[in-house]
Amino acid sequence: MYRSHTCGELRISHIGNTVTLAGWVQTVRKFGSITFVDLRDRYGITQLLFGEELNKQLDENPLGREFVVQATGKVNERSSKNANIPTGDIELLVESFSILNKSAVPPFTIQDDTDGGDDLRMKYRFLDLRRNAVKKNLELRYAVNRSARNYLHENNFMDIETPFLIKSTPEGARDFVVPSRMNPGQFYALPQSPQTFKQLLMVSGYDRYYQIVKCFRDEDLRADRQPEFTQIDCEMCFVEQEDILNMFEGLIKRIFKDVKGIDYTEAVERMTWEEAMWQYGNDKPDIRFGMKLCNLKFPAHTFPAKESLSSLIAGDFAVFNDAETVIAIAVPGCAEYTRKQTDELTEWVKRPQIGMKGLVFIKCNADGTYKSSVDKFYSEEKLKAIADAAGAKAGDLVLILAGTEERTRKATSELRLEMGKRLGLRKADEFKLLWVLDFPLFEFALEDQDGGGAGRWVARHHPFTSPKPAHIETMINNSPKVADLDKYLEHPYAGIKANAYDMVLNGNEIGGGSIRIFQRELQEKMFAALGMDAEEQQHKFGFLLGAFEYGAPPHGGIAFGFDRLCSILGGSESIRDFIAFPKNNSGRDVMLDAPSEIAEKQFDELSIKLNLK
Ligand code: ASP
Repeated sequence: MYRSHTCGELRISHIGNTVTLAGWVQTVRKFGSITFVDLRDRYGITQLLFGEELNKQLDENPLGREFVVQATGKVNERSSKNANIPTGDIELLVESFSILNKSAVPPFTIQDDTDGGDDLRMKYRFLDLRRNAVKKNLELRYAVNRSARNYLHENNFMDIETPFLIKSTPEGARDFVVPSRMNPGQFYALPQSPQTFKQLLMVSGYDRYYQIVKCFRDEDLRADRQPEFTQIDCEMCFVEQEDILNMFEGLIKRIFKDVKGIDYTEAVERMTWEEAMWQYGNDKPDIRFGMKLCNLKFPAHTFPAKESLSSLIAGDFAVFNDAETVIAIAVPGCAEYTRKQTDELTEWVKRPQIGMKGLVFIKCNADGTYKSSVDKFYSEEKLKAIADAAGAKAGDLVLILAGTEERTRKATSELRLEMGKRLGLRKADEFKLLWVLDFPLFEFALEDQDGGGAGRWVARHHPFTSPKPAHIETMINNSPKVADLDKYLEHPYAGIKANAYDMVLNGNEIGGGSIRIFQRELQEKMFAALGMDAEEQQHKFGFLLGAFEYGAPPHGGIAFGFDRLCSILGGSESIRDFIAFPKNNSGRDVMLDAPSEIAEKQFDELSIKLNLK
């Protein structure tokens, strides 16, 4: 028997018992003829006391950090107790011990505030995982996993595994491909998600499916993405959007309850994609705070449903007159910003990541006067009208950005988030869920995202998402061709909406899904709209089109980003912290040193010739 108890288990009630512990040496403290050793395992730390006799043995066999040690002795009440740890009242009076294994000096300290840098910790991830801070994250991840499984099981969902060596399942990224030795010149693709399989399971009649599953996407790694990541992937049949929204806000609420002890009893807010874009400038708004966007000017085609406020800014100010878009936000309580502070904000919006040329502000002074960086161009009365439109009150600071449509909207959205952060309105312990509904069905790819080329319509969600019934005609009756790339927003496809929904938590998209197409003809029309001719459709998705001929039920589903959900619940910005063995920002596993070259012989077996450029 290696141990009778764990290092986190012993209490006052165990005093006098003879026990055996095994674990890793955290610290060794020698005081004259006695030595204290903190022994650590997954469950905690227990202090070992080596008396005079054993100290001699220790002198001959000194213990070092991270040595694996087994010790037997009596549980003793500590004379100076440590209230900070659960085992702080007792210690183990060691009677015998053995060193089960030695350890090299670890390259960084295995402590909460370690001295190890990111790279070093990634290289020695197996040591990093010994740290309490990392262990807590993995425990949280497991708690989320358990909670999700319990909820889904209770609701009749069945966990069914789907294969990894498949044919492409498009989710808007490039596929990772795997050469097949037995089929020279042919390749599997790793799934970007189990999308087509879960739909096939619906055709097979498994009406509630889930899987906590790895997905693989070969995309440029923007901040905090992983080439392989985990989804809670779900699908249901005989459901409408409303059924899905109810079932899965139930799932997230259950996870809140089980993992964080939070009773999220209120209904989850809902907003259309258009509302989100208008009011917050992005499709995953953080609704923990207001500061909504006031759209003063915009091109008519962008969002047809909105009345223009451009008369408010009419005048001689060339910047506003020449801009495609002008957007304002009212920042509460900041009218007293100094020149230095407004200058700093101006520099902030000019940073390349934000990319604006400047920032206009209006101070709504407490005494009812208005002071602005564009005083020369607008009367106080006009400034007041603009500030009122932005919803500013006395004491607020109105910030206005102007420029091209997309960039300005994005920049204002970033500025809003930044001001929210600076004003402490984005509280880590506040959780606010939101459904964003009615997404556009298509997106125009100005750049190539998935290897399929640029300048074409791609599915905003994926090609299996159904259009809103009222928009099907528009899709069928219009050619996808876009004559003038600059004017793609005027193409009828730009206005087609989908039965698609995203769940947003504190400004992060944590899940997304849709009601699917389940009729062969409509699926063919959808593929055609995405520029696939009949032959390509058959080659890529013949199996799905074929399955739709054998009694495919109406169905829909959703997938949650499991890593991201964990990181938000754990109050961290980084999903890597919640993955046992993550890749770094360039998609490398620095511990394994992968990806790496393979032997010439392997290429031969695969009938592959390298052509490095
Ligand atoms: N497969 C989709 C995704 O990975 C989710 C879904 O539509 O259910 O985003």
